[in-house]
Amino acid sequence: MGEQRPAPLPAPDDDPRRRIPRTDAVMASPEVSAFADRLGPQRVKQAVMAAQAAARAGDITPDQVVPRVADALDSLVAAPTTLTRVLNATGVVVHTNLGRAPLTPAAQEAMAAAAAYVDVEFDLATGARATRGRGTLAALRAAVPQAGAALVLNNGAAALSLAVTCLAQGREVVVSRGEMVEIGDGFRLPDLIRSTGVTIREVGTTNRTHAADYAEAIGPETGAIVKIHPSNFLVAGFTASVSVRECAAIAAEHGVPLVVDIGSGLLAPDSVLPAEPDAASTLADGADLVTSSGDKLLGGPQAGIVLGRSDLVERLRRHPLARAFRTDKVTLAALEATLRGPRAVVLDYLHADPDLLRARTERLAAQVAERTAPGGHEARDGVLAEVVAVRGAVGGGGGPGVPLPGWALSLPEPVADALRHGDPPVVARVEGGRTLVDLRCVPPGEDGTLAACLAAVLGTMLGAEPAES
Ligand SMILES: *Cc1c(COP(=O)(O)O)cnc(C)c1O
Repeated sequence: MGEQRPAPLPAPDDDPRRRIPRTDAVMASPEVSAFADRLGPQRVKQAVMAAQAAARAGDITPDQVVPRVADALDSLVAAPTTLTRVLNATGVVVHTNLGRAPLTPAAQEAMAAAAAYVDVEFDLATGARATRGRGTLAALRAAVPQAGAALVLNNGAAALSLAVTCLAQGREVVVSRGEMVEIGDGFRLPDLIRSTGVTIREVGTTNRTHAADYAEAIGPETGAIVKIHPSNFLVAGFTASVSVRECAAIAAEHGVPLVVDIGSGLLAPDSVLPAEPDAASTLADGADLVTSSGDKLLGGPQAGIVLGRSDLVERLRRHPLARAFRTDKVTLAALEATLRGPRAVVLDYLHADPDLLRARTERLAAQVAERTAPGGHEARDGVLAEVVAVRGAVGGGGGPGVPLPGWALSLPEPVADALRHGDPPVVARVEGGRTLVDLRCVPPGEDGTLAACLAAVLGTMLGAEPAES
């Protein structure tokens, strides 16, 4: 209340703060000056000011200012982003919290190349403007010949939003009650559709919807029939749903388009996932538009994909919202490389051979035992680490109930926490009071790194608390 802060007293002569080096002196010091070329003088100056502030606050001594600045700049050069690479030892292939699909080396290289100026919307032959991302669109059509045209957007949610906005804004879409799903983290597809100003006309019941339900619901206000793949759950027992083929017949009879959100982005059928819809079959069955994600089972970068009838895709492409949902050049490059290059990493992991997984896991167990207790691990082997049969998961709200038979190294529960704090961080699964380290989604070339991480964690734990008798 009107109280005035006293003016800071001048530092007495013996105050160490008087020895804090000046900005230009720190910037000119050999330890720091080299960074100016790399990071620019502005970044360097910010680091100097932060270190001087720490010295004024008494957190470091004036002598520590230069080393503190050098350290800070060193870390900036080494890790310019706070995103930290992790090893996914959860056995969950499309792990949403770990960024869904890891990209193939080809896709990673394509992203790096596209980070510069590229001809994303430019024809080098004529010097004229060209269709944005035409190479990616061509690759999609080559991968799914049933599609007359393709469109790439920011994510699956954008693809579905644009489709329903364009076909039914201010009107209705017909959706089965059994497909009114929540995908994850409170994300509900019906809410997304309604948020575009489209009314949902629900048909059928939670467990059963019949062809007649669709036919009866279609009227002059119907903009489209929308079928949504309930990616993350199974309805068992007394159930009935209407196939894409039947829906397509009803839609055609009433002259409304059928939009199918297949979710995972499988382009063609996959033997491991017999119940997962794919774009090619869905279009062959008569869907007019198929929407999906690019970073689930397609295994590419975050993207939304629309495939289907050329006239409808063209309408979507010309809608003003298409601009708001469009992808950047780096994504387009990664998606094209995923489609044209080697098999997606997620498909490698999905199809991992259980026998190979077991052999790798046993080798890991042996390496860890050797490093933590050379010669003396036999007695503890069964207690500390054992190789157990587990089931992996497709994840990312896909393939519910699909068993992915595999193997894991089972360890005491506290290991998971310690592994996450290692370098690199390893994310394992905790189940039934045990830590399960599953190699399904660990690149085989990283088994040695994982063994070293585990050995470090177990070595510390065994050293800190002697094994109980
Ligand atoms: C995942 C999913 C979405 C959302 O896709 P994003 O790429 O996460 O936006 C929409 N529909 C279905 C059926 C899904 O599985």
